[in-house]
Amino acid sequence: MTAHPLKLRSLTAVPVSIPLKRPVGTKAHSFRTAAFLLLTLDTEEGVSGRSYAFCYLESIARSLLPIVADLSQVLAGHAVSPVELSNAVARYFKLPGLYGPLCMVASSIDAAAWDALAVSANMPLATLLGATVTGVRAYNSNGLGLMEPSAAADEAEELVAGGFRAVKMRVGRPTFAEDLAAIRAVRNRLADDVNLMVDFNQALSFSAAMEYCPLLDEEGVYWIEEPIRHDDFTHASMIAAATRTPIQLGENLVSVPPLLNALKADATDYLMFDLDRIGGVSGWRLASGLALAAGREVSSHLFPEISAHLLAATPTMHWLEYLDWADPILEEPLRIENGMAMLTSKPGNGITWNADGIEKYRLD
Ligand SMILES: [Mg+2]
Repeated sequence: MTAHPLKLRSLTAVPVSIPLKRPVGTKAHSFRTAAFLLLTLDTEEGVSGRSYAFCYLESIARSLLPIVADLSQVLAGHAVSPVELSNAVARYFKLPGLYGPLCMVASSIDAAAWDALAVSANMPLATLLGATVTGVRAYNSNGLGLMEPSAAADEAEELVAGGFRAVKMRVGRPTFAEDLAAIRAVRNRLADDVNLMVDFNQALSFSAAMEYCPLLDEEGVYWIEEPIRHDDFTHASMIAAATRTPIQLGENLVSVPPLLNALKADATDYLMFDLDRIGGVSGWRLASGLALAAGREVSSHLFPEISAHLLAATPTMHWLEYLDWADPILEEPLRIENGMAMLTSKPGNGITWNADGIEKYRLD
């Protein structure tokens, strides 16, 4: 590691939109492409850090370019210290508030700073965080949108073909009977020891969730994700109390204070953190301490490449959500073996850009 701290020279960003091999229809939005903002943090010392934001919409990815350009000027000359950088970004966004796309950018800068530190230290991010480079248990989340039961069963079978021991399907169809038919079709097609997660993407009302979630106790479901509005912790705790199947929440927690509120309300059995909402690598580390104190297992949401390093360093590590969406723009996509995401001993968080892929998918 360099004796002197790295100094940030510039931030650059490229918006891309990558077609999905398996489109994902959710109750909220139907994804045919993944819109990313690819962020590179360059230092005066020649070391670079990389990360990406998942922007949901192409227009959001584009809209963040002038914001990254602003932040590049604001942060130039700062030490590549995640604490110092996040304080500076928080000050800059104090009045608009660190939510939504601004939170994505702030978190991505933090993740890129940690990558630069790990590259500079010549060690994988997981090692820098005190963990062992290892395999991380993953579930396959590529696809299984709101589709017909027989199509869902076929797709589930394809998703476990590579040795995955768990898959996630989206639910929240117009009627619960339709969801139930799809869940049963998928469950019947999968081996008994393959876990099936279901994700409502906040589709249900409280009263519907109180009726439907306990019925899923009989259907061999591993967890029920976000049955109702993500920030309604009071009602979520009542649903969790009424349902034997574990409830899973957390992808919408923006930084650590709402996590404390969710835990105080006993809103969930399991937790999942989203790198770009929880506050990057720094936010994840703080959040994982709270999860440990509250005895909650932690899974990841999106960003499998960086999340694998973070989960390896999370005391209550649970499941990695595996998605291949970023593979076309990565030099070395995350490798999966028998359902395990395999970290390598390469320095950094594993992200290096594939120039041809970026050229092909960049948004003008
Ligand atoms: Mg979800």
